[in-house]
Amino acid sequence: MALLQISEPGQSPDPHQRRIAVGIDLGTTHSLVASVRSGVAECLPDEQGRVILPSAVRYLLDTQGKTRRAIGFDALAQQAEDPQNTIVSVKRFMGRQLADLADAKSLPYQFEDQPGMVGVVTVAGVKSPVEVSAEILATLRQRAEDTFNDDLFGAVITVPAYFDDAQRQATKDAAQMAGLNVLRLLNEPTAAAIAYGLDNRSEGLYAIYDLGGGTFDISLLQLSRGVFEVVATGGDSALGGDDIDHALAEAALMDAKMEAITPQDKRAVLVAARAVKEKLSTDGHAHLSCKLSGGMLSVSITRERLQELSKPLIDRTLVAVKRVLRDAKVKPDVVKGVVMVGGSTRMPAVRDAVGAFFGQPPLTDLNPDEVVALGAGIQANQLAGNNDKGDHLLLDVLPLSLGLETMGGLVERIIPRNTPIPCALAQDFTTFKDGQTALAVHVLQGEREQVEHCRSLARFELRGIPPMAAGAARIRVTFQVDADGLLSVTAREQHSGVEASVVVKPSYGLSDDQVASMLREGFTTAEADMKDRSLREARVEAERMLEATRTALAADGDLLNAEQRAEIDALMGKVGQRCDWGDLEALEAATKALAQGTEAFAAQRMNRGIRQALAGRTIDQV
Ligand code: ADP
Ligand code: MG
Repeated sequence: MALLQISEPGQSPDPHQRRIAVGIDLGTTHSLVASVRSGVAECLPDEQGRVILPSAVRYLLDTQGKTRRAIGFDALAQQAEDPQNTIVSVKRFMGRQLADLADAKSLPYQFEDQPGMVGVVTVAGVKSPVEVSAEILATLRQRAEDTFNDDLFGAVITVPAYFDDAQRQATKDAAQMAGLNVLRLLNEPTAAAIAYGLDNRSEGLYAIYDLGGGTFDISLLQLSRGVFEVVATGGDSALGGDDIDHALAEAALMDAKMEAITPQDKRAVLVAARAVKEKLSTDGHAHLSCKLSGGMLSVSITRERLQELSKPLIDRTLVAVKRVLRDAKVKPDVVKGVVMVGGSTRMPAVRDAVGAFFGQPPLTDLNPDEVVALGAGIQANQLAGNNDKGDHLLLDVLPLSLGLETMGGLVERIIPRNTPIPCALAQDFTTFKDGQTALAVHVLQGEREQVEHCRSLARFELRGIPPMAAGAARIRVTFQVDADGLLSVTAREQHSGVEASVVVKPSYGLSDDQVASMLREGFTTAEADMKDRSLREARVEAERMLEATRTALAADGDLLNAEQRAEIDALMGKVGQRCDWGDLEALEAATKALAQGTEAFAAQRMNRGIRQALAGRTIDQV
């Protein structure tokens, strides 16, 4: 009889069943959702046919005093009237504390420092950036569910490559709050590369040039065996199309010998300048006109004029590109393809400059606003198992090394930076003192050798270690980083099995500048750090030697005569003194002298120990 295949109700494998998965670009100024439909990735439009959702949430009270929210275009429409309650660019506050926000004073919000992350005071109460982002994500989730008339299986959400643990965790929390199943977080440049299908191209280095409204990001990705790794990232978190608007507005006012006096004037001329700038991406000339308190401003602007004005800003992006290439130790001509992302890359001057720099025309076929969402949509489709070509693996790397504090305030690196994630690495440690039953675990991030120069991520204690002689315990500390770059650390005493762990949810984030400067400092101070490290290690060794000698003297000091005792005391005194000097060789010599000077004493102790162990026993019993 033939075997009959049976399956549980509701679990029957249906080869035609598709899981709905989307990619979401949760952007600073706008957000999009994309999905693969009939084999092609596309951005999903709202009811009015707009694919872009402004990343803006306004909190307000209705006539009955109930709190309400306006999201996207609706929120922006009233931003000028109610700036305090209209939250834009919330991405910049994700996973940050007030102290991290350099320009908090110039923003129209009333911030409140809350444990973990800064909050914004609104008529609807204090709102965390996570909550605000969740509103945006929930709106896009609703859009997708309406489009497919079905529940979502999951979403891939993009984050900047330089986002740290705190910022990634905040993004994940927002997605969870919005009821999304996060398939994974994906780096924005990697998403853009996937959108262009670069993962199917020849192996090598690719550059992603992302010039938006307020930020510039440059990333180098290495493709090998269908897998992308972020090799280097850089950019400028305060450089973008807005700066070009400013330059153009100033030039127009100068030409007309007028001034923008009131805040309304300033806004009006910037809005007009932006429109002219965008028009000049397709047209040869345009007219800038707007009403100011001093009269009508009206000037004609050519594309050449705009190019002149934007050149210094475009040149600044190329300086950042050069720096990243230098970091990666490569020349521009090894780059196999350049992907353009961000609205400002529509400017012909930007395309020309980037093309000339790399000696090849950049990839511009896809809409630069949509490219990140499209790549995320393709990735989501693959992760949901809808891809016949089978899964392909995506790698990202750790932006900064992770390690532990060891004796002497030194950092033991457990996972070096640029390790592809997910990853797990373990290292064994032991106790320092006899009978030590607890061990403090201090998790750090950074490239420097000393604890005070790295960022503290978490601390926890492993307790209940059975009392043993110093050095006898085997404590294995395991660092695990999941596909989203989140870290968990576990410490386990191998003999007894006692265990403690933390999932690192850092309380605040680092800015990309801070990451960059931590990396830079790590490189430039490496040599000084090594010297310092040797000295600290020597100090630890000296302390260990002193501690062991003290213990021995307390237990078996009676074995020594006064002269021997004085000799050992003198040797200990020397080690103690040298510990305070900065002289590595002197300290090592003193420690060595103490070790040699106590050898005879150690032998005597051992003999006594054996005699005691044998006392009262016959040879047969041994
Ligand atoms: P962000 O990533 O900062 O959210 P975007 O990628 O949406 O920003 O880019 C917004 C910027 O792109 C704005 O400065 C806008 O003026 C500019 N931009 C959009 N369309 C064009 C265009 N056609 N020509 C020139 N600049 C444009
Ligand atoms: Mg962008």
